[in-house]
Amino acid sequence: MAVPVPALDLLTYTVPETHAVPATGARVIVPLGRRTLTGVVIGEASRPEGAFELRDIVGVLDDAAFIPADVLQLTEWVADYYLSGRGATLAAAMPPHALTARVEAFRTVRTAALTAQGHELAARPDALSPRQREAVLLLRATPDGLAVPHLATRGVSAAVLGRLKTLGLVAIRRERVNRDPFAPGGTSLPDRPDTLGRVLSDEQQAALERLRALAAAETFRVALLHGVTGSGKTEVYLHLADAVRRSGRGVLLLVPEIALTPAVAAVFRARFGEGVAIQHSGLSDGERHDQWHRIRGGDVDVVIGTRSAIFAPLARPGLIIIDEEHDTSYKQEETPRYHGRDVAVMRGKFAQALVVLGSATPAMESFYNAQQKRYDLITLSRRVLDRPLATVSVVNMREEFAADGPDVILSRALREQTQARLDKQEQVLVLLNRRGYATAVFCRQCGGTMECPNCSVSLTVHTSHRDWRARCHYCNYSRVVPKTCTTCAAPYLEHVGFGTERVEAEIHKLFPRARVGRVDRDTVRRRGSLASVLDRFAKRELDVLVGTQMIAKGHDFPQVTLVGVISADVGLGMADFRAAERTFQLLTQVAGRAGRGTQPGEAIIQTLFPTHYSIRLATSQNYPAFFDKELEFRRAMRYPPVMAMVNVVVRGKTYDAAMDAAADLARRTNERSAGGFVILGPAPAPLTRLRGEHRAQFFLKGTSRAAMRTALRQALTTLPELARRTSVDVDPLSVL
Ligand code: ADP
Ligand code: ZN
Repeated sequence: MAVPVPALDLLTYTVPETHAVPATGARVIVPLGRRTLTGVVIGEASRPEGAFELRDIVGVLDDAAFIPADVLQLTEWVADYYLSGRGATLAAAMPPHALTARVEAFRTVRTAALTAQGHELAARPDALSPRQREAVLLLRATPDGLAVPHLATRGVSAAVLGRLKTLGLVAIRRERVNRDPFAPGGTSLPDRPDTLGRVLSDEQQAALERLRALAAAETFRVALLHGVTGSGKTEVYLHLADAVRRSGRGVLLLVPEIALTPAVAAVFRARFGEGVAIQHSGLSDGERHDQWHRIRGGDVDVVIGTRSAIFAPLARPGLIIIDEEHDTSYKQEETPRYHGRDVAVMRGKFAQALVVLGSATPAMESFYNAQQKRYDLITLSRRVLDRPLATVSVVNMREEFAADGPDVILSRALREQTQARLDKQEQVLVLLNRRGYATAVFCRQCGGTMECPNCSVSLTVHTSHRDWRARCHYCNYSRVVPKTCTTCAAPYLEHVGFGTERVEAEIHKLFPRARVGRVDRDTVRRRGSLASVLDRFAKRELDVLVGTQMIAKGHDFPQVTLVGVISADVGLGMADFRAAERTFQLLTQVAGRAGRGTQPGEAIIQTLFPTHYSIRLATSQNYPAFFDKELEFRRAMRYPPVMAMVNVVVRGKTYDAAMDAAADLARRTNERSAGGFVILGPAPAPLTRLRGEHRAQFFLKGTSRAAMRTALRQALTTLPELARRTSVDVDPLSVL
């Protein structure tokens, strides 16, 4: 039995005679301390030795497995691999509220229909009042009845219906409806024509044939589809999915974020219609719940979703596609800290399915696996319809500062080219991977910057309605920017650095007639607002779109002919071994947004480090050269993908408490090691303070993940109190 309580492992209960033994995967209600919780049956246990009494379960919620056996097996794997606890992992695989006391019911709607008597009377309506007559005539036209809310919009009030019911002329029943995210008012997708009739390019056709053959074998395989931006990967997925569906097996498609990659979801929906279910965090709980039950009930054979959809209860998956597989949003940065792509590979293995990883800039891990022949590599090296890749040029910002002064944000080239596009009514994307107006508030007298009181970071300046606020990007603490320094009281505060808000303001100033939109985490807080900005841009109601990495992902805007990158090196300053990889991916992806229509595209990259290999090779969009160069660095430094890594962060009330506890845990882990890895640290975490807590970290690095897991798990068992203050990140994506 697993319950969704962090840090609790499996529990054992007895089944009283009043209940049938629940199936594995069924939900049961159990007492725990003074609480009552919903848990999931993992299997039968033999009665543990010991004096204590086992408690009885109180109720059984499902006659059969709620979670299918293969998904249960997958969550077990995740819990073990990521050291994440069975309960917490299961909870992540469930639809919303499935484990809370409130199990949300399906939405129902009341429907009114004429009775036999009602039909009779409809023939001689004089016996009815005018309003009743209207209602009866309306209902006569639709023998299956009409929803009560719908009748209300047609002027039939509840009072009239009630009266007709009392007269025995109308029957009212409850019907279950699915909250369909595609329906009007739901989280809809843009309209897309069904493109299945389109002629594939030779490369697309060749890729499709290889993939079809792999899928037809009905054994576990992983294929890496490395296709340059605009090479038409979606079209290949679509044809492949169609073939797998026809063979009677299900298709699971993961996308980084539905709102950011709407084309893929929309094109699938256009092709497969009702047979597609959608699972992602942008849906309301109700929509997600209903979609989950449609999948579980076998009503669909294609599931599209974000990371957690990898646990969708789809029967017999034969194909699992991970689109934009390099995207970091596949990694969950809270317990269970799983990587959706890696879990997908395991699901494919358990289900004997084909897993397709698609990207123009594959993760180092994935390309390495392909190079080691663990994955099949399939390449699309050209854009469809012989469209050229964007031409990329680099602007050395040191020269711009020399020419135009230190405050310049848009280089001369970017200003001129933006004006040229606006004149031709083409569209422009401008990327800066840093949000806010200014990056810090700096005091010229004492030299200090304003820091968050809870976290060891400086506050970012944001502006709206003339209100200047300094805000923490980690804990969301905020305050009005003061007139004088909070440390030395001097009135010499200055904003330093700049983010997307400032770039937006600058573009307004330079091009007052241009319609400018912005996309970053601050503008997309509200549900649906991201989709709406992207939609307006797609409809050409906006000329320029400014944004963070969100604008670089997977979009297909054919009218964009210019992409500008402000401060391409933002990520290179970070003390993260993946900094070069991230920079290369981001630049290549964003350059890939230009020239996807009939007009060729251009990208202008502004940087202080024009010779850095990640920038140089993104300019030539040469992935294999980047991979080789980066692998050299990873080999030399013994980083993934040539080594495995585990990051352990220990929190404490004080700096010393965190450091001492981390040292204790590291020592115990080391004592339980049978070799196969080394321990680095402990050291203060790069964010030494976060949300008021101090943090220390250490790393395990080696070739055997199993050895690391075993030693660490054993060490954690000896320190249950410390375990609650510890986060373990297996295969960490970010070590900041
Ligand atoms: P990728 O995901 O590889 O960057 P997409 O799948 O978004 O590329 O395809 C790029 C564009 O080319 C899309 O507008 C798509 O509809 C179009 N496209 C794809 N395949 C073909 C084809 N065979 N013929 C014409 N247009 C195509
Ligand atoms: Zn903070």
